[in-house]
Amino acid sequence: MSELREKLLRNTKHGYDRMDVSETDAMERYCTDYRKFLDNSKTERDCVDYTIELAQAKGFVPYVPGMALEPGKKVYVNNRDKAIMLAVIGKKPLSEGIHIEVAHTDSPRLDLKPNPLYEDSDLGYFKTHHYGGVRKYQWVTIPLELHGVVVRADGSRVKICIGKDENDPQFVINDLLPHLGREQGKKPLNEAIPSESLNILIGSKPLADEEGSDRVKLAILNLLFEKYGITEEDFISAELEAVPAMNARDLGFDRSLIGSYGHDDRVCAYAELAALLELDVPETTAVCLFADKEEIGSYGVTGMQSNAFDWFIEQLCFTQGTDLRTCFAHSFCLSADVCAGYDPNFSEVYDRRNSAYLNRGVGLCKYTGSGGKSGASDASAEVVGFVRKLFNDNGVLWQMCEMGKTDAGGGGTVAIFMARRNIDVIDAGVPVLSMHAPYETVAKLDCYMTYKGMKAFFHA
Ligand code: MN
Ligand code: MN
Repeated sequence: MSELREKLLRNTKHGYDRMDVSETDAMERYCTDYRKFLDNSKTERDCVDYTIELAQAKGFVPYVPGMALEPGKKVYVNNRDKAIMLAVIGKKPLSEGIHIEVAHTDSPRLDLKPNPLYEDSDLGYFKTHHYGGVRKYQWVTIPLELHGVVVRADGSRVKICIGKDENDPQFVINDLLPHLGREQGKKPLNEAIPSESLNILIGSKPLADEEGSDRVKLAILNLLFEKYGITEEDFISAELEAVPAMNARDLGFDRSLIGSYGHDDRVCAYAELAALLELDVPETTAVCLFADKEEIGSYGVTGMQSNAFDWFIEQLCFTQGTDLRTCFAHSFCLSADVCAGYDPNFSEVYDRRNSAYLNRGVGLCKYTGSGGKSGASDASAEVVGFVRKLFNDNGVLWQMCEMGKTDAGGGGTVAIFMARRNIDVIDAGVPVLSMHAPYETVAKLDCYMTYKGMKAFFHA
């Protein structure tokens, strides 16, 4: 009887019952490095900076058009400091295709508005415009850091990072006290905290010996000018992002989980980067992409709908006398993005038989989208079959999943933009709890299995 079970039934055993015990140390080491990546990569710009540091240490050099590209050559293109493309040239010609892994490194956050600074009732504030799908009530009364760049009137650029260093001040958005929250408490969750109330408290001390109005605002500008040489108008040409001021930590008595801001999608970004950095001379050219703007539709010049990627691969093709479209037609892409982990506290929105569970390995999504698969690229049986076999052959624990119940909602990834380029593509990534919250949860086993999966694909 049990023989029949083994032969015919899908293996749904717990990941810890299936993973080789000898891999525990490697998993912990990997997750320690991943936590470090998270703490150094709280914005897409930080991700690019830190990735270049890691890549250069492994022999990657900036790509220069026309440079010689022998097998094993390691190059990268920094796309405007907000996205990055890395490649390790393989033995096979590019006309036979490339292996692409794409993740996004932008995460939901609060951007400063172009005219952010104001004073009200002797308190200084920054107005914000949220970026991506945020549940606004989650962003009040948590400590925030500010990261980004300001381009000053003379065109010079200054980087800003306040709140990360333990001696730095941090920031906060205040919420109503419960004593006066009777009416607010009756509102639907999505309306209780309106966007225009997401104003960051940034100071309260007025400029001394000054008679005019807005003395707190003036005092803050004075501090900013002294430290960064910026004036109020400089905010117009700035990108400043408020992100949660919490570092990644192990969670749970058994330390089996990691809590952090930005797992979506740095947990997959780091998996593919770690896999790429270990490559020597692959058979097929391996390409690791960190895309920006995924959370708002991938439209920007640093997003996956931009031609920056096509330009880079076309340049590589030129050196081998190959055309881009032939290369794409034979290429394969893992769209490495997180999936929704089954949460027993909200069981009503999940299909238990088609959900991703924590500690069951990397989640494969044949399709995303919403309703009747609307907006999905919907990987073919052949594409799913290829990845399934690849992962099985390489000891990668995986599970097939949908986001949730068909009628509950939906979402998308960059997979559709790779499909549009005539590249076979499937979504694969780590199941996340509290996705898009300031502090998300993932399981270490899934992080490690995703890394193993990314490695297996680059070696395929
Ligand atoms: Mn994502
Ligand atoms: Mn997302």
